[in-house]
Amino acid sequence: MSDNSQRSGKVILLGFDGMDFDLTSTLIEQGKLPNLEKLSRKGVFAPLLSVFPADSIPSWITTFTGKDPSDHGILDHVNYLLGDQDEAKIDTSVFHQKTFWDEIGSKSGSRVCIINPFMAYPAWPVNGVMVSGPAFIAGDIQVSDETSIGDLKIPDSIGGLEDLPGKATMRPFLDKAMQDTRDEAAFGLGMLEKNQPDLFFQTFLASDRVQHFLWRYCDAEDPTYPGQSDVDQGIEEYFSVADKVIGDFMERLDENDILLVMSDHGHGMRCTHCFNFNEYFRRQGYLKSTSGGRRISSKVVIEKLKNRVLRFMNDHDLEDYISKIAKLVPNAQALKKGTHIANYSDSQAYAPDFAGTNPFGGVCINRDKVDDYEAFRTQLIDELERVTYQGQPVFRWIKPRESMYCGQHIDSYPDLLYEMIPSLGTGFSMHTDLFTINPTHKKISGGHKKYGIFFGAGPGQWDVVTSDCKITNMYKTLLTLFGVDDDNSRTVSFFHRKSPAESPTN
Ligand SMILES: [Zn+2]
Repeated sequence: MSDNSQRSGKVILLGFDGMDFDLTSTLIEQGKLPNLEKLSRKGVFAPLLSVFPADSIPSWITTFTGKDPSDHGILDHVNYLLGDQDEAKIDTSVFHQKTFWDEIGSKSGSRVCIINPFMAYPAWPVNGVMVSGPAFIAGDIQVSDETSIGDLKIPDSIGGLEDLPGKATMRPFLDKAMQDTRDEAAFGLGMLEKNQPDLFFQTFLASDRVQHFLWRYCDAEDPTYPGQSDVDQGIEEYFSVADKVIGDFMERLDENDILLVMSDHGHGMRCTHCFNFNEYFRRQGYLKSTSGGRRISSKVVIEKLKNRVLRFMNDHDLEDYISKIAKLVPNAQALKKGTHIANYSDSQAYAPDFAGTNPFGGVCINRDKVDDYEAFRTQLIDELERVTYQGQPVFRWIKPRESMYCGQHIDSYPDLLYEMIPSLGTGFSMHTDLFTINPTHKKISGGHKKYGIFFGAGPGQWDVVTSDCKITNMYKTLLTLFGVDDDNSRTVSFFHRKSPAESPTN
């Protein structure tokens, strides 16, 4: 162990995808998460700021590598609506063997045991063992060192995209999510026991799916809350399972061990309405419709028909059929994103499907079609800042991408980035009202929020620097615990032992 290491025992990091800071705080206050409550009293509990956009793929990869999304360049988001596996074939090789567990394993000689790191597939050789499954792609679960498994059974749920529920199958979906989590935890505990690593890291992904699909069944304030049902406590039920899993790990800790629990982003009620950016840009004259100047165009007819069908399906509780219908339409992806109707190459500004139907997203500008790029960008910000919905400004903020990040892949971001009020998501429809209902809310009623959770406890007293408690700093925080240097001056460690005087004597 290196001299400046902050740890004396092992470090265990558990990741739960999409566990929300506000919801976790509330459930702790209500006494429903006794193990997390105990952990927060022994150590720290703080909001952990996700990346922009607050999606699982960029956020976990930032956690793994310490690079912000403009640096690692993987900005994809998961579209649960289409459940289309082809869409999510993402090349992740750029960060293979460059993660915190690679650095800690090679530079401090620590033994690592890494289970189910999201998108880190296929497994690669590490100083210890790595077990990972394919996310969104076909493939088998891989183990970098078979001898580390012994007679433990690897759960099938590691990695892959699960079948998504319809409204008649919410209960079995929830039951399976909870059972998968218990099975994965049992496997993780077995691996911890058998391999005795210095660093143990496991992620659980079902927490994200449960909130995406069950939100409106559990939140009486959601306008589409259907009333009492057999899943109306479903999200709390899942959080209780997560709390129990954390408790099981706490029981295995030695007094010098450090336990960290984190999530990659939060969750809340997904936007119920959309601001249709492309319709706004069309009206402003910035975006050309492929209909040209003709008043009656088959493309406009299809667009209007699509808007009406989606609205009809929402009004008649036909949300389970949205993706089926979308798949029957040729070029379904183009229809969803509105590319069939917007003539992007001829336009000055448009909204791409950068972050899905969420309050956060981006606007693209065609440099070739504007005289002065910076002046046009400023003009768009000014105009959009004045847009109101029900008497309120639509945007919490809207700014140039360079004021968010400055990495080598910054051009992968749209030219402007924004966050709207939580009730509004990005809409891509044209030839419709500026503000419409979000026709997919009933299907996917939970949406991502930017604050996930961070818990940390170890021997002695620990402190968290709340203003630095960010996903971008997670990598350096972990390396620092192991005394491993990292030359990235843009990141800092946020979890520290309070003072040496309070350290236990060994
Ligand atoms: Zn996530």
